[in-house]
Amino acid sequence: MKLQELKNLTDTFTSSDPLPAFFIGHGNPMNAIEENPFTKSLQEMGKSIRQTPNAILVISAHWLTRGGTWVSTTPKPETIYDFGGFPAELYKVNYPAPGSPEYARELMNLIPEVKEDTQWGLDHGAWAILKHLYPAADIPVFEMSIDYGKPMQYHFDLSARLKSLRNKGVLIIGSGNIVHNLRMWFAKPGLEPYDWALEFDEWVKGRINARDFISLIEYEKHGSSAKLSVPTADHYIPMLYSLALAGPEEEIKFTYEEVFTSASMRAFRIG
Ligand code: ZN
Repeated sequence: MKLQELKNLTDTFTSSDPLPAFFIGHGNPMNAIEENPFTKSLQEMGKSIRQTPNAILVISAHWLTRGGTWVSTTPKPETIYDFGGFPAELYKVNYPAPGSPEYARELMNLIPEVKEDTQWGLDHGAWAILKHLYPAADIPVFEMSIDYGKPMQYHFDLSARLKSLRNKGVLIIGSGNIVHNLRMWFAKPGLEPYDWALEFDEWVKGRINARDFISLIEYEKHGSSAKLSVPTADHYIPMLYSLALAGPEEEIKFTYEEVFTSASMRAFRIG
């Protein structure tokens, strides 16, 4: 490679002030097309970022893999309708943001064991929130999968290695739900939250404020409210990816708080 080419390449990934990192409880896919206090908070979150990101990396509860972690290099990611039984208008939503093979490759340079996926589009854990954060869909988006066979500590440690991407203009978003129990959701009518859902959500908030991330990695030790709130870890893990990106002095600000039935919509911003 010629010296000038090398220079051009480094220029693409020059350092900047770190972009914030988000965790967002995405909840019902219908939020993609609804206007409510939660979607309004997402719009505010998008507007609050002064610097336009070069790319957005989403770690979504809806891209689970086994036997490795993959990153999408898809140049034109398709909008994936990974749900069933919703009104027809939800299947008409398109989020036509370009992909970001460049930053996906930069991620693979940082973490060489992450593998390349050339097919994955945008699942609803990504597009249903991005539609409110960046409605113009003009910022490149790529996703990294969650290796579902791995322990919690693995996810936290892997994400800590992504930190430098924040200085290269990448907005990193974990998209899941702190409390997420669909079986208990269907078990009762109404939106009144279960006591255990409120308790667990409040406990997580307290641990985040105390910077006690170890307890959150070992959440199973918290007992019965943890067991009911996190019956499977798919929606919880994205929060660990977000927390691992926090610098020791960085503020973690809750941008939305709501618990209904057996779901927490809590969201926060780091930095
Ligand atoms: Zn979900």
